[in-house]
Amino acid sequence: MKYCSICPRNCNIDRTTGAGVCGASETLRVAKVMLHHFEEPFISGTRGSGAIFFSHCNLKCVFCQNHTISHGGFGKEITQEQLIHMIQTLEEKGAHNLNLVSPTQYTLQIVKALRAYKPKIPVVWNSNGYETVHSLRLLEGLVDIYLVDDKYAEPDLAQTLSLAQDYPQVAQSAILEMRRQQPQDVFDTNGMMLKGVVVRHLQLPKQLQNTYKVLTWLSECVGKHTYISLMSQYTPFYKAKAMPPFDKPITPLEYKLACKKAMDLGLENVLVQDAESATTEYTPNFDGDLMINE
Ligand code: SF4
Repeated sequence: MKYCSICPRNCNIDRTTGAGVCGASETLRVAKVMLHHFEEPFISGTRGSGAIFFSHCNLKCVFCQNHTISHGGFGKEITQEQLIHMIQTLEEKGAHNLNLVSPTQYTLQIVKALRAYKPKIPVVWNSNGYETVHSLRLLEGLVDIYLVDDKYAEPDLAQTLSLAQDYPQVAQSAILEMRRQQPQDVFDTNGMMLKGVVVRHLQLPKQLQNTYKVLTWLSECVGKHTYISLMSQYTPFYKAKAMPPFDKPITPLEYKLACKKAMDLGLENVLVQDAESATTEYTPNFDGDLMINE
C-alpha cells in the first residue's frame, strides 16, 4: 500500500518518503524486546510475556509514560527478518506468548512477518484501541489474544488528552471486531490465556463519568463476562504535569467508586489493582536492547 490509511487518522501519506500523524516510516522500528513480568497475571505468568515494543504511536496522549518511544520515535530500524528472529528468540527464551506492544502503525509489516512465521505460542495484539475494523480484519487467524485499551467514552476528553475526538466510537467498533474474531476466552490448565479479549481501562483523575460510561458500554455491548483490567496507576507523565486536573494521580476513593460501579454492573471478570501501585514498576527500562545481534 503506497499511501497509508492503516489507522483512523487516514493520513494518506507515502511512508517511504514522509510520515503521518504517528511519525512512523515504512520501515519497522522497535524500542525494546524483553520478557515482560508486569502484564496481567494470565499474560505474564511465571516466565514472562515476550514483548516487542514498537516505536511511534497514532495517539497523542499527553500523559504517555512511554512518550520518548511513542512521540519521540526512540528505537532502532529493523528488517522483517530481524523481527522474525526476535519472535523466535522470545519463544526460545520460554515466553508464554508473543506480545506486540503498540503495533498498529506497523500492521501491514507485522501481518507479513506473521504469515512468514507464526509462533507456536499465542500472539497478543497489545494496542490502544484506535484502529480500524478493516485493518483488524487483516489480523484474523494470526492474533490469538487482543489486549486492548478502552480509554475514553467521551469525545471531548479523547480530543483534549489524545487528539482523537472519534476515539470512543472507533475503539468500540474495534473491540467488537476483536470479540467477533475471538468470541471465547480460553485458558490452559495453568490459568494462562490462550485466546480471547482483555480490555484495559486506565482511570483518569476527576473523570469518573468517563470510567462509568466505559464500564457500562462493556457490560451492555461486549458482555458481563468480559475480562477488564481496571487500572489505577495513572501518573501525570509528560505534558499532563501542567494540565490540571490531570497533574495528579487518582484518589483511592475514585478507584473504589469505579470498582463499585463494575460490581453494580455485574461485571464478572474485573482485575483490580492496589490504589498505591508503583508507577515505575510497570514501566520497562527502555535501553534499546532488541535481543538480536546487530
Ligand atoms: S498508521 Fe500513521 S501514517 Fe498511517 S494512517 Fe495511521 S497515523 Fe497516519
